[in-house]
Amino acid sequence: MTETRTVSVLGTGIMGSGMARNLLKAGHTVRAWNRTRAKAEPLAADGARIADSPAEAVRDADVVLTMLYDGGTVLEVMREAAPAARSGAAWAQSTTAGLESVGEMAGLAREHGLVFYDAPVLGTRQPAEAGQLIVLAAGPAEGRDVVTPVFDAVGARTTWISQDSAAAAATRLKLVTNSWVLAATAAVGEVLALAKALDVDPEGFFDLVRGGPLDMGYLHAKADLVLNDRLTPPSFAVKTAEKDARLITEAAERHGVRLDVARAAAERFARAAAQGHADEDMAAAYFASFDEKRA
Ligand code: NAP
Repeated sequence: MTETRTVSVLGTGIMGSGMARNLLKAGHTVRAWNRTRAKAEPLAADGARIADSPAEAVRDADVVLTMLYDGGTVLEVMREAAPAARSGAAWAQSTTAGLESVGEMAGLAREHGLVFYDAPVLGTRQPAEAGQLIVLAAGPAEGRDVVTPVFDAVGARTTWISQDSAAAAATRLKLVTNSWVLAATAAVGEVLALAKALDVDPEGFFDLVRGGPLDMGYLHAKADLVLNDRLTPPSFAVKTAEKDARLITEAAERHGVRLDVARAAAERFARAAAQGHADEDMAAAYFASFDEKRA
């Protein structure tokens, strides 16, 4: 098989559009579909063909790449698309979804003769645009040569975790990783809110931790978005962070552990969204500490 593939990208939001552009740059043929067509259209200038429906997008695909909001959305879109896909085509699923949804997707793939890969990604807008994501992948060893050039185009590396995509081993690792990301995001917001309330210059706090074990680049990156009002365009939106925090708490509960920090983070994201920050970067969870819309 040649190294170039026909790839159908379903979902051209923050992540999907960067991934589609890197697929095109690597020489793959891209069919893009997005619910709001206007968001897919700029990809035509890079060489993508924009499809009117998910079914049209997947018709001649070697690989279908889903990068949608959540598991429910993926199932809805793929129930429409899968009957039109070529039997034997690969489905690489990169949306951050719940564990049960991934199991259902594997079942849907089986029904339609698709080879399912559970393939969530680490990295945000900038790594997606630079083709520097980390792909966490689970799926059958036989046939990996079909999806490998696709993962190589969107990512800096692929970590293969398991041959069993239905067990969602890659998504399990993704949820564990995101629990750390979301806890750190909530902590950044709270440290800035407390500093403001106590009339402490946040720079004093940054200076105290700088270079020590409590410092992290992520603290400075997210604090900068809040302090310098750079919350749009988002790298990872508040509404998406809320969805992930809920997936994490649900997965924990189903497996018998209680996560208080993730639950509180979900509440902070929900409150910030209700205050009008849903489409801003998740660093805007900072505003959940205040009553007014803009603190
Ligand atoms: P995004 O920009 O909000 O894109 C979401 C996509 O889902 C859009 O294409 C949107 O279509 C589509 N969508 C939402 N609801 C839909 C529905 N009911 N039917 C059909 N399409 C629907 O989000 P993103 O940041 O790219 O994230 C995409 C996925 O990647 C999420 O699962 C997220 O958790 C995960 N992820 C994100 C990051 C990140 O840093 N941003 C990193 C790793 C993983 P419209 O354009 O029509 O709304």
